Amino acid sequence: RRLALAQERHLPARTLDEHDIILRANVATQAEARTVLTAGADGVGLLRTELPFLNRAAWPTRNQHAAALVPVLRALAGQTVTARTLDFADDKLPPFLAKGLEGERLGRGLPLMLAQPDAFADQFRSLLSAGADTDLRIMIPMVASVDELRACRALLDAAAVELGVGAPPLGIMVELPEAVAAADELAREAAFFSIGSNDLTSQILGIDRRDPAATPAMAAHPAVLNAIAEVVTAAHRHHRQVSVCGDAAAHPLVTPLLIGLGVDILSAAPSALDEVRARIRRLRYDACSSLAAIALTRESPEEVWQLVQQTCMPSL
Ligand code: PEP
Ligand code: MG
Repeated sequence: RRLALAQERHLPARTLDEHDIILRANVATQAEARTVLTAGADGVGLLRTELPFLNRAAWPTRNQHAAALVPVLRALAGQTVTARTLDFADDKLPPFLAKGLEGERLGRGLPLMLAQPDAFADQFRSLLSAGADTDLRIMIPMVASVDELRACRALLDAAAVELGVGAPPLGIMVELPEAVAAADELAREAAFFSIGSNDLTSQILGIDRRDPAATPAMAAHPAVLNAIAEVVTAAHRHHRQVSVCGDAAAHPLVTPLLIGLGVDILSAAPSALDEVRARIRRLRYDACSSLAAIALTRESPEEVWQLVQQTCMPSL
């Protein structure tokens, strides 16, 4: 079956009624980056950059960033690459951030990065240099407010001026309820949105993302779907594309809902792309839209899963 699905790699991710979805890959390593073209992806929708530094004892230097980024970005020359800046969260925390000398919490995520502007600026400089041969976009994780986005833009613009290059499009991940609430204001200033369904689902439902109950299928919870619907509406009002780059993008019970809600781009592990594409090619967009509209009015994920199974789950 895997082989049969791979035969469709050169075909567009287009529904039966001719609605196109852009398919991108989530990558972190050079080995994964090398598979992007053969997987038939339209570039990278999420380059995770923190993984090489999770066991480090100090902030990465510019050289260390370059050593991590250059091999990956070289393998992606000519392609669209959406590079996410360092995302040191509770589940991805290097020792030097896990505990201060007194055992105190040093902070997390974007506030932590903005409190270390020199370390943050080093990553912007490194991305601009290492990504010069790609169609680079930069994406900020865990954004909660427009002020944070503006602070990031100031650092990026300063790095670009310093290096004598143009600043690439700057977008945000929508994965906090605060970002959903500020979606309209954020859409005015962000070049694009990418919904981090892993974090957004656990945040909205109040479950730790390491809890086994926090599965990708839980993104079908009506509370999460309503948040995604709001985000898509705000983005499209400002002519911004919306991607979903969490694991829900590739989940058969969620993909049709995301399509029906108007998501433009799905980004998934390279190994999942054959199946996602094959599913899209067997779905109707009008059926996904009707499904999503009904799902928004339901009470529980179980009801939504059942609806998806009944109406938008083609056999492969
Ligand atoms: C997400 O939160 O959905 C996401 C894509 O990012 P990560 O899993 O790296 O937090
Ligand atoms: Mg996340």
